[in-house]
Amino acid sequence: MKEIIKNIKGTKDILPNEVAIWQYVEDKIHLFFQKYGYHQIRTPKFENTSLFNRSIGLDTDIVNKEMYSWTDQGGNNLTLKPEVTASVVRSFIQHNLGKINSINKLYYIDSLFRRERPQKGRFRQFEQFGIEALGSDYPEIDAEIISMAYYLYDSFKIKSLKLKINSIGSKNTRLNYKKELKDYLINYKNDLSSISQNRLNSNPLRILDTKIDFEKEIIKDAPKIINYLDSDDKSHFEELLMLLDTMNIQYEIDHNLVRGLDYYTKTVFEIHSDILGSQAALCGGGRYDYLVEELGGDPTPAIGFAAGMERLILSLDAQKNDIFKKPFIYFITLGNGAIKASAKIINSLRIKQNLTVISNSLRKNLKAQMKEANKLNVSYVIILGDDEIKNNSAIIKDMDSGNQESVNLQNIEDFFKKPH
Ligand code: AMP
Repeated sequence: MKEIIKNIKGTKDILPNEVAIWQYVEDKIHLFFQKYGYHQIRTPKFENTSLFNRSIGLDTDIVNKEMYSWTDQGGNNLTLKPEVTASVVRSFIQHNLGKINSINKLYYIDSLFRRERPQKGRFRQFEQFGIEALGSDYPEIDAEIISMAYYLYDSFKIKSLKLKINSIGSKNTRLNYKKELKDYLINYKNDLSSISQNRLNSNPLRILDTKIDFEKEIIKDAPKIINYLDSDDKSHFEELLMLLDTMNIQYEIDHNLVRGLDYYTKTVFEIHSDILGSQAALCGGGRYDYLVEELGGDPTPAIGFAAGMERLILSLDAQKNDIFKKPFIYFITLGNGAIKASAKIINSLRIKQNLTVISNSLRKNLKAQMKEANKLNVSYVIILGDDEIKNNSAIIKDMDSGNQESVNLQNIEDFFKKPH
């Protein structure tokens, strides 16, 4: 027997019986973001490796060990996209989008690739949806974006949403704070993990992000960045919190929230839900006021968030049955005459009346077709056999009530024009 080739670890097939929930979620996301006046942007699945080295930062897990990178036949160093912001910013600069609109409000739904250890809610190819707004440094855009993330999850009825928020200030604030934090952490150098010891010099802020319990104990008493914000950072953060209060969005200020990537400034946030257990972050984002300039564009303040589609779908598990739209009609045909006569009626129900009609294409007997209709949980079954053809009629069975009636073939369309 020939060996079967399987999919790659950390990737998955979305099979026909699972796809309805994906389509439902994607449709809702498009409509939701468009309601706020955001436009979709689609960037390529792979980019020059240097784009990610420069934007995400060399001292991050993504760039250090998770990128799928290769050299192609032409000697180009390429990488499958591990996150979207860098690609959007590259495209924004390359196509002069900042000159066309003074503010660009963009959203995306995309596939990403990271060589992480696969577990529940963590994959090597996964989908993200997200927002990038480029052009405004006012706190109202921070509030708009946070509220979009929050109310999107709320519209999916995800329970126990928790918004964590922090400000990590602008460049100067971070420079001053880094020094203070390093001075504090140096006292505990020998107690830190080897990774954190290295970060002590390269990027001590990232130690605050630790998931290790004994490091969490150490950072409990570390200086807090919020006390180092300059007056501009401070008023930005205060105005943002005031706007969130106005919108009735509850938040928790998390002093250790710094986010993994180097490019964040001022506002950073995450939305969590305990439905997910250990992989609790549904989405994360923040302001990245220097990234456009660092990638060669004109200085442009910007803010965005990225959200995992798999984690959203996992948290929807309990609602799956309500979401699955049941097909409307199952058309049972019995005999050659019925197959021929049904083609016209089915066509008109589908094309003219826009109804979902499923037909059995295996010429099975009545019992087998009825079994299939029950399995699909349809609303109506139409039965057309050679006997019915003789009477120029078909049987329509309402599957919810169990009632059935004989309807003239010419009147089937009208039957479904009535509200059901
Ligand atoms: P990040 O781009 O790392 O800030 O992640 C933003 C969101 O994407 C997270 O909150 C998750 O919902 C999702 N995410 C990140 N990495 C993965 C992964 N490996 N598998 C599935 N979802 C992920």
